[in-house]
Order: sequence, then C-alpha cells, then structure tokens
Amino acid sequence: MKKISLLGSTGSIGTQTLDVVKHQPDRFEIVGLSAGSNVELVIEQAQVFKPSIVSLATKELADQARPHLPTGTKVVYGEQGLIEVAAGTDADMVVTAIVGSMGLPATLAAIDAGKTIGLANKETLVTAGHIVMERAKQRKVAILPIDSEHSAIFQCLNGEQRQGVKGITLTASGGSFRDRSRAELEGVTVTEALNHPNWSMGAKITIDSATMINKGLEVIEARWLFDLTYDQIDVLIHPESIIHSYVEFNDHSIVAQLGMPDMRVPIQYALTYPERIVTPTERLNLASIGKLNFRAMDFERFPCLRLAFECGRMGQSAPTVLNAANEVAVARFLNGEITFLDIERVLETIVGRHEVCNINDLETIAEVDEWARSLAASV
Ligand code: NDP
Ligand code: MG
Repeated sequence: MKKISLLGSTGSIGTQTLDVVKHQPDRFEIVGLSAGSNVELVIEQAQVFKPSIVSLATKELADQARPHLPTGTKVVYGEQGLIEVAAGTDADMVVTAIVGSMGLPATLAAIDAGKTIGLANKETLVTAGHIVMERAKQRKVAILPIDSEHSAIFQCLNGEQRQGVKGITLTASGGSFRDRSRAELEGVTVTEALNHPNWSMGAKITIDSATMINKGLEVIEARWLFDLTYDQIDVLIHPESIIHSYVEFNDHSIVAQLGMPDMRVPIQYALTYPERIVTPTERLNLASIGKLNFRAMDFERFPCLRLAFECGRMGQSAPTVLNAANEVAVARFLNGEITFLDIERVLETIVGRHEVCNINDLETIAEVDEWARSLAASV
C-alpha cells in the first residue's frame, strides 16, 4: 500500500489524482488532503478517502469544514497547515497539485521529510529550481514529473545513458488562440481564453497556455528536472497533443511518448513508477486519428516564450521574477483588470526593470518574489 498526501486536492490535477487512486483501492491510500477554499468538495473527498489530516487556506474555512469531517481527521490551515499535510504524516509520496510558487515551502518540507514527490506544481521549480533539486539530491528523494511533457521525457529517458542525449523537444498544443494572429488578440475575453482546445485544466494554466508562458515555465522546469542546458531544449507546436514530447539522441534517433491527452496517465505513472498498470483511460488509435500536425514555434507570435528562455538563460533571480509577475498578471486578467495582451506587457516591463541578483536562500527568493508581485499589481 502506497500512502499519499495530496496538496491541491480540489483542483484539476487533484481531482484527477483522486480518480486514479479510486481505481486502485488496494494499492493507494490517501493520508492527507489540502484544499484552498472549496470546503464542500474537500469534505466530500475526506468522507470518501478518510485522510488523517485536511488543510484549508484559512482558519475560517477550517472551522467551517471541521464539523463535517470524519472523526479522527485533524483540520489545519494556512501555510503551516499545508506544510503539515506535506511533511507531518506517514505518507510515502506527496503529490504537489497546488498552483503557484506558494507550493515551495510545503514541497521543501516534504523533501526534508524524505517523501517522494509527484510534481505537478511547476511554479515551484521555476521559482527555486536549484534549491529544490539540490535539496532532493541531498535527501536522496525522487522528484517524479506529472506535467505531461516532463512525464514523456522521463519515460523516454528510461534506461538510457545520459551522455547519449542530444536534446529534448517539448510539444505545445498552441493554446486557446493558436490560430489567431496577434492583431486578433486585442480584446479577447476571459471566457474565450479559458476555452482550451485539448485539455481541461485549472484557470491559471489555461491562460498560461494561451500566452505560451506555460511552455516557457515548462522549459525552465525541464532544465531542472533533467539537468539540461537551454540549448538542449526545443519547443514544437503540435495541435493534437498526441506526442507528449520527445528526446533526440546523439545517433539522431528520436524516442517519443504518445497517448491520448488525459492527465490521469502521467499522474498514474508517477504514482506507480516504475510499474505500469491498467487505467480507465482511453487507448490511442493512430489509424483513427490518421494524421498528426506540426509547425515550428513562432517566437514573435508568442513573445512570452521568448522571454521565458531569456529569463532561464539569465538564471539567478530572473525566473523567480518572471514567475511571480506572471501569477499576478494572470490573476489581474482573470479579474478583468487588464487585457490579454497586457499580460505580456506586464511581464516585459517587470523583467526589464529587474536587476538580476544571486538567490541562494529562501529569504532572498521571497524578497524578489514580493518585489515582482507588488510591481505587477500596479504597473
Ligand atoms: P487548479 O486551479 O485546478 O487547482 C489548484 C489547487 O490549489 C486547488 O486545489 C486549490 O484549492 C488550491 N489552492 C489555491 N489557492 C490555495 C491556497 N491559498 N492555499 C491552499 N491551496 C490553494 O490548478 P491545476 O490543477 O490546473 O494545476 C495545479 C498545478 O499543476 C499547477 O502548477 C499547474 O501548472 C500544474 N499542471 C496542471 C495541469 C492540468 O492539466 N491541470 C497539467 C500540468 C501541470 P481550492 O480550489 O479549494 O481553492
Ligand atoms: Mg504541460
């Protein structure tokens, strides 16, 4: 029996993780759940999975949930509560499915407690990749990717010698607006931006996909997960999301991972690794799909991706600033405060004003993150 603590249980990845667990009741046990403000759903989940601990975003929400939780389930809240769910249980594995760099302290706490990490929360690696990876290495903790592209690369690298790798290519569906020109992006609405062609995901990552910053965050995530240089990472538009990403080796052989676009596959692989077991997901039938399409990435059309590569190459505090500014800009777009194209303008402005500095500790990361957030809230 593998014991799992799940951070962000009420979100898109969180609910799909519970779906995977529900299909394998003899294999997995949920010992901890954390939610933000969706009290009703986390109560329902706790009644089904009977975790020993549940965390909510605030004390008020925790008080609201308490009377409805199973007897024996402890309720905690806030950042400390999240850390308790991540590190204070007898879980073997922690799935990080909360959104944003707020997942960093809990992820580090889970690593310190020796838990295997199933990582969906990419912002954590963007904001502090060197610290997270170094800590995982010290503690001999595995970080298993859940993001579909990174799960694909991880699978393609199975059993291969690292010195044989020439580079990797992350595929990108192109997001909600892939067929629109830049001129057609002025004035697009939040509803249009939230309508992703292939994947049903949380609001923030759906907007990130439309601006293509998601692929930029994934490039930085891949740099840390697989210890690559930015010159070894390429991006390709592939509208069908069937080839989830691929590795090219020195002999020009390419190994790719394919499947229907369903996040339960990479989630389950992280949970069962290195085993592969049956799933309730749909099988890929290439004959019925018939044709797959590809086109080169257009960095003029998607300047956020260019900016992410630039920040990744600058290193140090640049990715932290980019990530923090993006979290605020996306929230402002979703609130109707700024337009879709303003998101990239905010990012360009803040990265442009930032003087890159060394970040070797969490205090400096927090300072830099806060600087970018406050500027992004007002610019
Ligand atoms: P969602 O927005 O669907 O879910 C986010 C989760 O975080 C929810 O459980 C939410 O709780 C919780 N949360 C939000 N604010 C707080 C808070 N203040 N305190 C504690 N918990 C909080 O996001 P996704 O599931 O789409 O994405 C999660 C992560 O996975 C992101 O980093 C994303 O980039 C990554 N990812 C997602 C994919 C997808 O298919 N969705 C694919 C690949 C990666 P509540 O709803 O209760 O407020
Ligand atoms: Mg992805």
